[in-house]
Amino acid sequence: MLSVEKSKSELGEKLRNCRRQKMKIAFVPTMGALHDGHLSLVEKACKENDICVVSIFVNPTQFNERSDFDNYPRLSEKDINMLKQTDCNFVYVPAVNDIYPENKFDLIHLDLGLLTKVLEARFRPGHFDGVITVVKKLFDIVQPDIAYFGQKDYQQYLVIDAMTKHFNMGIEIIAMPTRREKDGLAMSSRNMRLTKENRSFAPEIYQSLLKAQNMLKTQTPAQIKDWATKHLNSFKEVDLEYFEIVNAMTLEQISTVDDTGEIAICTALKLGDIRLIDNILVK
Ligand code: AMP
Repeated sequence: MLSVEKSKSELGEKLRNCRRQKMKIAFVPTMGALHDGHLSLVEKACKENDICVVSIFVNPTQFNERSDFDNYPRLSEKDINMLKQTDCNFVYVPAVNDIYPENKFDLIHLDLGLLTKVLEARFRPGHFDGVITVVKKLFDIVQPDIAYFGQKDYQQYLVIDAMTKHFNMGIEIIAMPTRREKDGLAMSSRNMRLTKENRSFAPEIYQSLLKAQNMLKTQTPAQIKDWATKHLNSFKEVDLEYFEIVNAMTLEQISTVDDTGEIAICTALKLGDIRLIDNILVK
């Protein structure tokens, strides 16, 4: 039975009780407008642990554009009904002042080297300060044994993994594969805000990543980046922010394929007003 929790102290008390019974607690933080991508994390968390906690909180401090925050879909009743169809035990839906008491939005500024400087960090100044702050606060409230994140936000996963190690939090961080629509578009709460025309273009993002992956066999990362930049920018509705080929552990740009282990091809672009990101990992 799903229990809906609005207060960190009540949730904390119930989870302390679970911990006393030696239950293993899993956590899936989200911003709601749930889709099958989120549910894949929830289902895995439920299956592999005794207790599954999901949070739904549209965190104001991680948005670097006010309009993106204001327009972010908020569908909490629908979300709660979706979670009722799973084995999730607790959904935490705090008001802003349960997370940021007295409206104090003091942020943690954690320098995690390149992880907090490249890709998303370059185009969304302050974004990871907001992410690190809210996830640290949520981890302190839930105190999970394990937490599940999506590969869709690959840099976020690396940042959270590094953050938990930095603070010796002892929480296992798991990355789950990106769930996609049939046409390849990575599922995202923002997709529902795409115009019809931009929605029909959007699968091209994943197609470009796949093409780049294939090109790695014969071309240098610089040549591929050049191709992808020209290709994506040739569509009038696209405003490309980046298309980078990086070391999947360090996010360092790579110049040749054989000087690295796993590679991540990461891109971010705006389709009209809507910013989308995607990536693939290449062994
Ligand atoms: P969000 O609500 O966008 O903050 O996402 C909450 C969690 O779900 C994050 O760990 C995301 O990476 C993950 N997630 C979002 N979209 C997908 C997807 N298409 N497939 C798998 N995980 C996802």
